[in-house]
Amino acid sequence: MAEHNDFSTEAIHSGQIEDPFGAAVSPLYDSTTFSFADTEALLEVVGGRKQAAFYSRYGMNPSITSLEQRLAALDKAESALAFGSGMAAISALCLAFGRGGMICLGEIYGGTTVFLQHQAKLLGIGTQFIASDDHAALKASLAQGASLVFMETPANPTLKISDIEKTAALCHQHGTRLAVDNTFATPINQQPLALGADFAVQSATKYLGGHSDLTAGVVSGTDRDITELNEWRKSLGQAIAPEIAHKLKRSLVTLPLRIERHNKNAQTLAEYLSQHPLIDKVYYPGLVASENHDLAARQMQGFGGMLSFDLKGSGAAARQFADRLTLMKLAPSLGGAETLITQPVTSSHYGLPKALLDRAGISDRMIRLSVGLEAVDDLIADLEQALKAIA
Ligand SMILES: *Cc1c(COP(=O)(O)O)cnc(C)c1O
Repeated sequence: MAEHNDFSTEAIHSGQIEDPFGAAVSPLYDSTTFSFADTEALLEVVGGRKQAAFYSRYGMNPSITSLEQRLAALDKAESALAFGSGMAAISALCLAFGRGGMICLGEIYGGTTVFLQHQAKLLGIGTQFIASDDHAALKASLAQGASLVFMETPANPTLKISDIEKTAALCHQHGTRLAVDNTFATPINQQPLALGADFAVQSATKYLGGHSDLTAGVVSGTDRDITELNEWRKSLGQAIAPEIAHKLKRSLVTLPLRIERHNKNAQTLAEYLSQHPLIDKVYYPGLVASENHDLAARQMQGFGGMLSFDLKGSGAAARQFADRLTLMKLAPSLGGAETLITQPVTSSHYGLPKALLDRAGISDRMIRLSVGLEAVDDLIADLEQALKAIA
């Protein structure tokens, strides 16, 4: 396990707005526009000589920029940009930096796959899809030319871990940028930029928001790259709303605390499930027996709140099991305080061809948990009663 970084102080104090009334927390600026004393002062901002509040769709709003300072501090990035959703962040990133060709490494979020296979393709952006550990294929694709490699680790729903450092080194040999979707890990458990990635991307709808009550996204990187990305966000009108920025900034205060508890609860459930006679296999990088454990221990500071498992028996039994749970809610999405359960074949991977599912290692007996913040004994009791019911 790598050294554990304590982000608590940054999560609370970074990006604090100086307020004339001495407000202990930054106020919300829901104003769409900001005024100037005179034309000279306005021209300083319009001409880019001074950074100041100006117009909210440009992201030039104190509630947005102060959130971005906090997000950058957590990602240990020069800059961060906040978007209206995770897909807004990902699509802008691909349009800004993927026009020389994209490579997707391993399993990535379904929405990202759809965007690349359909809309990006219509715009002439081609994508090569490569297995996560096929470094020979990656080298060959990079040699043919690509401007952005996109990867996700841990991946959904198999929690497969891919090597960020090694991939970044390969990309950089060819002058290609690497983006890592860090939604499952969050900066508390994994720091893609420190491992060599050029961009860390997250759906803030998940752990960063943390309460299943907001939709947002973020990209972090160098000042130069983020300035370029900002032009796309501005023209596509994808900036986060000030109200959501304010709410997200508040959620970040408890991110380190929440992730610590998510990690602990998931580890406990993974160990419980791996010893259960009705469970075939548990997918959780925190289990020492997991094939992903060594790599995860090297590149992560914690193993996260997501875990999957295969039940023994049939897909119908797995469905019955999901329906029997009472405390855990059957719902897509993840990262909230409440534990959510999905059967990937009836949700994120619904309707996909069997050959594709087999290749991804997803069966109809697989259940995915977004482990919440409840008392872990109550979660175990819920699993136990549902397993008894299908035994
Ligand atoms: C949810 C999710 C996204 C998309 O985020 P939205 O906020 O729903 O647009 C992207 N990547 C991962 C890994 C996700 O879980």
